This record gives sequence, C-alpha cells and structure tokens, in this order.
Amino acid sequence: MNLTERDQNHLWHPYTQHKTSKPPIAITKGKGALLWDENDKEYIDAIASWWVNPFGHSNTFIADAIYKQLTTLEHVLFGGFTHEPAVVLAEKLVEILPKNQQKLFFSDNGSTAVEVAIKVALQYFFNKGEKKTTIIAFENAFHGDTFAAMAASGISFFTDAFQGMLIDVVRIPVPIKGQEEASINALRDALKNNNCTGFIFEPLVQGAAGMVMYESESLDKLIKICEENKVLTIADEVMTGFGKTGRTFACDYLTEKPDMMCLSKALTGGTIPMAITTFTSAIFDAFYDEDINKALFHGHTFTANPTGCAAALASLALLQTNDMQGHIARVNKSHLAFQKHIKSHPKVTTTRVLGVIFALEIKTESSASYYGTLRNKLYDFFIENGVILRPVGNIVYILPPYIITDEQLQKVYQVVEKALEIV
Ligand SMILES: *Cc1c(COP(=O)(O)O)cnc(C)c1O
Repeated sequence: MNLTERDQNHLWHPYTQHKTSKPPIAITKGKGALLWDENDKEYIDAIASWWVNPFGHSNTFIADAIYKQLTTLEHVLFGGFTHEPAVVLAEKLVEILPKNQQKLFFSDNGSTAVEVAIKVALQYFFNKGEKKTTIIAFENAFHGDTFAAMAASGISFFTDAFQGMLIDVVRIPVPIKGQEEASINALRDALKNNNCTGFIFEPLVQGAAGMVMYESESLDKLIKICEENKVLTIADEVMTGFGKTGRTFACDYLTEKPDMMCLSKALTGGTIPMAITTFTSAIFDAFYDEDINKALFHGHTFTANPTGCAAALASLALLQTNDMQGHIARVNKSHLAFQKHIKSHPKVTTTRVLGVIFALEIKTESSASYYGTLRNKLYDFFIENGVILRPVGNIVYILPPYIITDEQLQKVYQVVEKALEIV
C-alpha cells in the first residue's frame, strides 16, 4: 500500500467530505515553491500551503535556527518562566508593529490568536465593571474554527451546525467599492445598542472569502467610529501579516491603528505552529490589578515554545532582507502584468491584486458554491497540470511563496488562463 492508501485507514482531513472527495495526494518532499508527491510528480505550491510559507519549503536558514534552538532549549513552560527567544522576538516585533502595540500574548494558531483577542475584548469591559457581550464582524469573514473565532466568521456552511451556541455577533457589509456607505451605516446602527465590545476584521483582504479586497480609507473610517464609541478594534492579520499585502502588515496602510492584532500563518515561515495576539498598553492595564480575578486566565501548554520563537526570529530576519523585499515587489509587478493581460478575457468578470495576492472571478451562469462543481473541476484541472490552487467557488486566487521563480509564476498564469477554456 502506498501512503495515500494507508492514509485512508485512519486519517480524517480538514474541510473534507471523505465519501465524495478524492484521496489526498501524499507529498514526500518540498524545496522552494515546489512539492513532490510519492510518484515523483512535481507541483508548484501557488498558495504557499494555505498562506503559511513565504520563504519556500525546506528553508535551510530557518531549519538551522530551529536545530540550534532544539539542541539548546527545546521547550520550557511559560507560566512563571521566560526565555531569550520569546523576549527577543517580542522586542523585534514591537519594533515593526504599529506603535500602539506594546504587549504580546502567545498561542498556537490563527484561531487561538483570535480566541484570545475576543476573550480579552469581553473581559476588558468585565474588568471595568461593564457587561458588554456583542462582537461586530464583517459579512463573509473568516477568523478560524474554534468557538469564538467561528462565531465571528460569516461563511455560513462552516458554522450552520452550531447556530444558537455562539457568542452574539452583529454583521456589517464589507466596504468594497459601492458598499462603503452601507458598511458605515451598518456599523453606526450596530453601535446604537450599547452592548458592543469589539469589532474584528481582516484588514484590506478577506482571505477565505476569496481574496475580497477593500480600501484602507474605508477601514480607517470604521476604526475611527469604533474608537469614538469606545469599542475595541481587532485586526486579524493571520493571513495578511508579514508581507502578503506588499507591506509588513496590512495595518501599515492605515492611518488609524487597531487595539489588537492577531498574527500566525507566516509568523514562523510555515515551519512550526505558533500565533501571537498583540495589544495596546491600555488593554493590558485593564487586566493589571491587585485582584487575581482581573488576570487573563488563558493559556496553552506550548505557549511561546522556544523552538517556534527561534523559527519566527529566523523568518523575520529573512523577511527583512533586501532580497526578500525585492521578491515581494517582483511578484507584485508580475501579478499586475498578468492582470493587465487577463482582465478583458471574456470569461473573467473582475481581477484584483494587492502585494503578492492575485485573484480573478470567473463569469458563471448562477452563483458558484464554495465547494461546488465548478470549483472542483478547476481544482482537479490545476492538480493535473501540476499547480496547487484552491479556488473558492468561482474565484481563482494565487498567493505564492515570495521566492517563486519567474518561470514558475508564468507557468501558474498559463495554467490559470488555460483553465478559463474548460469552464
Ligand atoms: C487561517 C485564518 C485564521 C485561522 O487560523 P488557523 O491557524 O487555521 O486556526 C484566522 N483568521 C484568518 C484571517 C485566517 O486566514
């Protein structure tokens, strides 16, 4: 039996209906933007393995840092103890985060980073003797799969089975072109009941919704309104962080700054699961008290794992090289050229580019469902052609590792263009 067959005996995969899905492809090695399966077929990883891998697979610079840390101090509990990788990582991140972000809390993944932010938003008011329980979020948001994160997410079939068991969320339209006013009005309406504690959003790009993009000016307005109404703002940069939008953080495009930020995915260059939620000093101060009950009683066993921190430090060092910044600019330029070429294609309705993110929408008769027939047909076509892309309904997006070569990128574009002929 090969790996794919043995997998079927015991393994349960994410977002997978095992009865109708094809068996998974067994990957045996990766290098740069390439992956190889157990039959030695080569694939271009054009979505950076769910957006985690900017610097390429099996990166030896990060691997060396991990090895060095593993053989110095692999792990120590973070309750009552600390260590150099966490301290240095915090110092380095504070240098590049928006100036108001001063306190960092570690967890393990994007969902837990969001979970922490939402719990903090709720307890912040509780600690001040106010009971506020409603979160504001965008339509079609994705913030993760744990309970609070899931509640904030608006992609309905992810959450249908759990309706009635989730925290209160008011949903407002995303301020895409033409919807800016509607979004602002909906926010003002939501704020009329005085129960709102926080507003969570994916800044500038809604990843899981299909790389839906909106302008920073609109987000600035929404943040400002929240500020005026003493509602905490949470920028979920789990997808957008560390260069994806062309700047280190999507929030770098903003004039207003959020009260909290959630980081994960590319934080460790796609090597070790780790996440960080960051806060203003004012938020930290609301938990700082003689009273133990005002502390944040949240933690995870592997909080601030030193090996993860070492991987994050190496990743950050790579991101900050001129070389890597050059790659980000090169991929962006290449996307813009492809956009120019493809945008008037008869089967394409819209295209969008920000940083290393490219998306196009395919003209369809009826609205295409998230995991529908069109999506599956496209996915299979891409896999057959050796390119890993996961369309969302009728949206095809590309979010490659920054180090993808021009030749590989051209192949991805060609396969996307060819796919337009089969739909
Ligand atoms: C992926 C993602 C999450 C969830 O992260 P996990 O590590 O999968 O739990 C949360 N928010 C955004 C914006 C994401 O893209």
